[in-house]
Amino acid sequence: MNDKVYDPSSSEAESFISHAEISDSLAYAAEHRNDISLAKSLLRKAKACKGLNHREAAVLLEADDPEIVREMFSIAREIKYRLYGNRIVLFAPLYLSDYCVNGCVYCPYHIQNSHIARRKLSMDEIRREVIALQDMGHKRLAIESGEDPVHNPLDYILEAIETVYGIRHRNGAIRRVNVNIAATTVENYGKLKDAGIGTYILFQETYHKDAYEALHPSGPKSDYAWHTEAMDRAMLGGIDDVGIGVLFGLDTYRYDLTGLLMHAEHLEARFGVGPHTISVPRICPAADIDTHDFPNAVPDDVFSRIIAVIRLAVPYTGMIISTRESESVRAKVLGLGISQISGGSRTSVGGYADGRDGDTSQFDISDRRSLDEVVSWLLDMGHVPSFCTACYREGRTGDRFMSLVKNGKIAGCCHPNALMTLAEYLADYASDAVRRKGLDVIKRELSQMPDERMRGITAGYLEKIAAGRRDFRF
Ligand code: SF4
Ligand code: SF4
Repeated sequence: MNDKVYDPSSSEAESFISHAEISDSLAYAAEHRNDISLAKSLLRKAKACKGLNHREAAVLLEADDPEIVREMFSIAREIKYRLYGNRIVLFAPLYLSDYCVNGCVYCPYHIQNSHIARRKLSMDEIRREVIALQDMGHKRLAIESGEDPVHNPLDYILEAIETVYGIRHRNGAIRRVNVNIAATTVENYGKLKDAGIGTYILFQETYHKDAYEALHPSGPKSDYAWHTEAMDRAMLGGIDDVGIGVLFGLDTYRYDLTGLLMHAEHLEARFGVGPHTISVPRICPAADIDTHDFPNAVPDDVFSRIIAVIRLAVPYTGMIISTRESESVRAKVLGLGISQISGGSRTSVGGYADGRDGDTSQFDISDRRSLDEVVSWLLDMGHVPSFCTACYREGRTGDRFMSLVKNGKIAGCCHPNALMTLAEYLADYASDAVRRKGLDVIKRELSQMPDERMRGITAGYLEKIAAGRRDFRF
């Protein structure tokens, strides 16, 4: 392991994710495990939405005093509501191709796996998938694809994005396409930007370089620096909304959470804007993958704490959880700062039109409920399910978006947009029971909207939606 000097503004992976700095931070955190007064001062700082640096976050992650942990959870909840309100944004992954030249040992799409029949969607098949997703009510997708320059070159991804945006089916439309594909060049990121993508998402998997190299024995992804510096190239290519994440369970959660926050600090230091989203996947079973091979797998209580600490450390970053997690885990962590979830997902190529995942899914889904059931469940828990895509379409990206969140102004857009996109969903796709329940929630939420002018405008738009018009936004 190389011990380069820690420099958050450096362009070199091993300087902005310095192993020595992570080791020192973890030692500092272990030393201050029982320092209640330090933990309390960090909680006060977090409560004021000032964020925490990676070292401070590592201290809170270690704290085992029950009162500190309770307070941590309560502040995480408070920050989420203060900045984003009670909306939860919904999205779905769309798997384009499971051809992949990489050897990631935790993923069933790795090149050595000869047990799965590889598949890549044609443009006609993509149309069928997107129509199936539109018929569920989705407006926001995350495109997923393995890395294979022959089967899935960038031109294929670009054509797929154009296809997705071009499909109009009844009242359906995909209004935001996020993209989760392999690390690429500045030039290619520029092409993705020109194609109108929302967020570019790439998970680091693990920040521990030696572990990373062992887990990625072959293919372009085996180059730690190439992968770790990808978000820098994306930013240089003009993409200002990037989504980071690790696959918790590959290395120790302490190491990876610290690295994740250092990555966020690096983007802020070098480009003046931190990550738009952080995802928190955990290692889970899949075809050809046995979780017993991963001794660092994270239990539920630690997972909740990780989510709360991220919420405290980077209050302005959206947090995403997928259907890898069960209904009960998702219910718990929604209250700890998660702002976006997937619903009704399929994690195999062609899974939506086929109506099943078959045996080629990238990971096993724990939450198998339909989108309608997820919407109903969110309503029952007091959240407002949202299909909003307004910011990116209004040019509120990068630092413009961040300054609105930091000023506490974004919730003023999120809330009415959530009500209007929920009203569209209820009118076009919901079951009768969910429609009735959702309309009651919209009525109640509207009556409680504090800004009279916004309430009036929103009420006017809701009437137009009820009369058949679509796509209003703030
Ligand atoms: Fe390929 Fe991604 Fe799976 Fe690695 S994690 S094998 S890059 S699809
Ligand atoms: Fe997301 Fe912006 Fe819509 Fe809020 S207003 S839900 S931040 S897109």
